[in-house]
Order: sequence, then C-alpha cells, then structure tokens
Amino acid sequence: MWIAELFGRVKNIDSDIVSNDIKLKRMSICEGCPKYRKDFKMLFKTKKNVPQCGICKCALQAKTMWEGEQCPLNKW
Ligand code: SF4
Repeated sequence: MWIAELFGRVKNIDSDIVSNDIKLKRMSICEGCPKYRKDFKMLFKTKKNVPQCGICKCALQAKTMWEGEQCPLNKW
C-alpha cells in the first residue's frame, strides 16, 4: 500500500471505457465524498485542480472512465 501512497495506483487500462454519462455520474459521486481531494498529491508535488481519491490515490478523471475501476468504498 505504501507504493500507492507514493505513486498512486496504476489504472485498469485493459478494460473498456464507460460512457460519458457514467463517467460524469461517478465524478459527481466522488465530488460529494469526504475522501475527495481537489488537488492531486504525489511525493512532494501537488497538481492543482486535478481531483484525487484520498483512499486509492488515483487521479479521478482517469479512474472514473475505466469500466474495470471500482470505488474503494463501493459508492460506484
Ligand atoms: S473513488 Fe470512492 S472513495 Fe474515492 S473519492 Fe470517489 S467516491 Fe470517494
């Protein structure tokens, strides 16, 4: 898990891409989640306005578009 803390998880890129509606619905759920981070943090760098999941450390714009991805809290 410390690797995910440092680098974020590798995306499930061998799965299909979901529809835009599903992606937006997932993002909407994330935006209301207490684990949602507005800025992406990796090592000592911060990317402003790049949303990140505070649990799996994934970049949410990427995470929400892959069909094989799942919310670690089973919210979507
Ligand atoms: S993926 Fe799940 S736990 Fe992470 S921010 Fe989105 S809703 Fe919250």
